[in-house]
Amino acid sequence: MFPDVQLHIAGQWRGGSAGQTMPIQNPATGDTLAQLAVASRADLDAALAAADRGFAAWRKVSAFERSKVLRKAADLLRARADEIARIMTLEQGKPLAEARVEVMAGADTMDWFAEEGRRAYGRVIPPRAEGVMQFVLREPVGPVAAFTPWNFPINQAVRKVAAALCTGCSVILKGPEDTPASCAELIRALLDAGVPGDVVGLVYGDPATISSYLIPHPVIRKMSFTGSTAVGKQLAALAGQHMKRATMELGGHAPAIVFRDADVAKAVSVLGANKFRNAGQVCVAPTRFLVHDSVFDSFVDRFVGFAQDLKVGDGLQEGVKMGPLAHGRRIEAMEAFVADAQDKGATLRTGGKRIGNRGHFFEPTVFTDVPLDARIMNEEPFGPIAAIQRFSDDEEAFAEANRLPYGLAAYAYTRSAETATKLATRVESGMMSINHHGIALPETPFGGVKDSGYGSEGGSEAIEGYLNTRFVTQASF
Ligand code: NAD
Repeated sequence: MFPDVQLHIAGQWRGGSAGQTMPIQNPATGDTLAQLAVASRADLDAALAAADRGFAAWRKVSAFERSKVLRKAADLLRARADEIARIMTLEQGKPLAEARVEVMAGADTMDWFAEEGRRAYGRVIPPRAEGVMQFVLREPVGPVAAFTPWNFPINQAVRKVAAALCTGCSVILKGPEDTPASCAELIRALLDAGVPGDVVGLVYGDPATISSYLIPHPVIRKMSFTGSTAVGKQLAALAGQHMKRATMELGGHAPAIVFRDADVAKAVSVLGANKFRNAGQVCVAPTRFLVHDSVFDSFVDRFVGFAQDLKVGDGLQEGVKMGPLAHGRRIEAMEAFVADAQDKGATLRTGGKRIGNRGHFFEPTVFTDVPLDARIMNEEPFGPIAAIQRFSDDEEAFAEANRLPYGLAAYAYTRSAETATKLATRVESGMMSINHHGIALPETPFGGVKDSGYGSEGGSEAIEGYLNTRFVTQASF
């Protein structure tokens, strides 16, 4: 049926030493699926000791051998994709097809890092004197503490865990308590493929208690966090205080600009699909729609139609395009966004309400003409609410795109090469996708600027965060 989820510490799957557990719930029904083991301080100490031993051993394994193990883990994920996808849909809510795509994409990410670890090249620098050799070596940074959220239980974790393992680091993953079982399957695939038990740990519990113990701990040399900007700033401060390397993948509020010369039908179908994918619980989801006056009515009519046509339901059911929100906290957040937007005078075009009283379903919701002081125009919605604004001068759209402290993803639709060039150079975001949705491939950089964080979780940039640079110079006798 559905597995109880255990911790993985020092090569053993086991319960928490204090015997504490917490329930895992199905967001489509509210039913308890199973129990999750909670780590005690003693469990964290055991995980840290294992990570220390694991690092000493794993860093000596050649990049070539590590690559073979990771590739095998990728194959195991593919072979188990149907089973893992079912678990993910049950605990997270997303439609089964989306869950399966996530598992397969996780395998692709693993393959990418398997190869990238083999290319963690140093270099040789020409010397100033005869007989001198100057080398730049790249070395694994050390044991990593990784913290990942519930929206993509496999893909948020694989970007950190595979990057750590391919470079020779050990890792303790604090997975998402709301969706722990699919994340545990990722770790199982790595262990079954041959990653030694001390090299990868998996813990769950109270997030703040675990992060405030692991990040300052002397064994941990690097931390990586994906989650909200508010929590990210606290953890970045803690990492700074203890001089730990950090990668921060935080919130976003992506502008999606539809210019007068856009292919409106394509813009609606691509932006609509990505707005409501995973019920909008995606850090790179398009969220502030800025549409030129001349195409505003046609865009809004089609977009509202798109939202109304989405079949919402239990992700295990055939034909469902949008599942429930992952937990009850998101329903409360959506209701507060809607009430605030209405108070401030926005026009509700469709949706706006919770669906039924069982599970955490919310209607795909579209607002237009939302005042800039409405919360939805300033805070990351992280749910199925789209806010559409109009503009008449392109400069207004650029100014609005850059108004917020966020800078993760941005999208635009235009047929003008001149506008595309301006978009590439003037929008303050870590990622810009023009005329299609091309973000989040393993081989392309993934990360933000400004309050959206720092460091990259994709492309060849991603392993930089897991490597130290060491300079060695040697003169002949
Ligand atoms: P939340 O801030 O309580 O939790 C978000 C994630 O951060 C969870 O996985 C949680 O376990 C973790 N977390 C929270 N406090 C932590 C701490 N002190 N140390 C370590 N980890 C910690 O919020 P929530 O209600 O679960 O989600 C809502 C918000 O979180 C959203 O509005 C969104 O901004 C953000 N979020 C972002 C992403 C992303 O992909 N960037 C994913 C999930 C949630």
